Amino acid sequence: MGHRVTLIPGDGTGPELTDAARRVLEATGVELEWDVRQAGVDVMEEAGTPLPDETLDSIKRNRVALKGPITTPIGTGFRSVNVALRHELELYACLRPCKTYKGVRTRYEHVDIVVVRENTEDLYAGIEYEAGSDAAGDVIRTLNALQPKQIAPSSGLSIKPISPEASERIVRFAFEYARANGRRQVAGVTKANIMKFTDGLFLSVFREVATDYPEIASREVLVDALCMGLVQRPEEFDVLVLPNLYGDIVSDITAGLVGGLGVAPGANIGEHAAVFEATHGSAPRYKGLNKVNPTAMILSGKLMLDHLGERTAAQRLERAVAAVIAEGDRVTYDFKPTRDDPTAVGTSEYADAIIAKLADGEFG
Ligand code: NAD
Repeated sequence: MGHRVTLIPGDGTGPELTDAARRVLEATGVELEWDVRQAGVDVMEEAGTPLPDETLDSIKRNRVALKGPITTPIGTGFRSVNVALRHELELYACLRPCKTYKGVRTRYEHVDIVVVRENTEDLYAGIEYEAGSDAAGDVIRTLNALQPKQIAPSSGLSIKPISPEASERIVRFAFEYARANGRRQVAGVTKANIMKFTDGLFLSVFREVATDYPEIASREVLVDALCMGLVQRPEEFDVLVLPNLYGDIVSDITAGLVGGLGVAPGANIGEHAAVFEATHGSAPRYKGLNKVNPTAMILSGKLMLDHLGERTAAQRLERAVAAVIAEGDRVTYDFKPTRDDPTAVGTSEYADAIIAKLADGEFG
């Protein structure tokens, strides 16, 4: 029996990227049965929503989805499909492995970092009070009555909730990931020296959970020191676990360390479902041009194979991708020394090069 997977092509360059990823994944020999469902601006008019119920139901049924990027339309009243999916499916963990591959132009070598970001709480919980509103006034008056430090009455407020339950869930996810993937160290990243009751809580949960994983080294790092460490000695870091806001920022730093958005895969994972998708957006400017780099999408597919227990196929796929990039011949424009290099190939031909590598059996 194969694996049934929801495939969401997305919009903008999403359909061409997911097509490339789908063909490459099929070439690994893993039996995949695709349940293709739509989401994004292209279905909005016809379905009346950018996230039709049938798409959501399909992911709930199959529990695994490969998703192309989706444009967040501005000024339509619809919220981001990406945010809605994470919320509806309780995808509490955002996983972003960032690794340098020979042939990708970056300032760094030997980077192999996995960012595990909490997806549900923190300043991103969406609890905000607009400056001058009655609600902001009420909250400020209540808080000012509780403490000597006074908040200016004209302030806007964004609330940072961090719970022990959500912290334990994400820290445990990071250690379990480390254990399952043979990683040596997990770093808990906070600003616990300043925000004692939120980041401090996250850190104390981190310390407690770490004792259940004696074979994995645990390390505590302040987020500012981490940022400096990442740009100076990124090879010293392994798995990082962070609350939502720091995770968002740090995962962009780590993507930058390894060559940018075109090569940064990702996944959003919950108890009941997992959605695999590239870090980048829909790059609508390049829609239909068969130009953009599908590596991030293909490597997200590799993460999906790992998640499905298809470890050998996942490793073969990664080695085939690495070999095509290292040869530097049949790669997209952004992997070439100059962006107008006439030898660059398109999205689809790059996928063909990976498929050819898989077919020649060189990778096991
Ligand atoms: P973007 O990631 O689409 O593009 C940023 C830059 O990176 C552009 O210059 C683009 O050309 C380049 N780029 C992106 N992916 C590339 C690839 N695979 N190969 C080569 N170059 C690539 O970010 P944006 O322009 O800010 O966002 C476009 C839309 O995508 C927005 O509506 C945004 O909300 C949405 N978005 C969706 C997701 C998602 O679906 N998970 C994530 C981020 C942004």
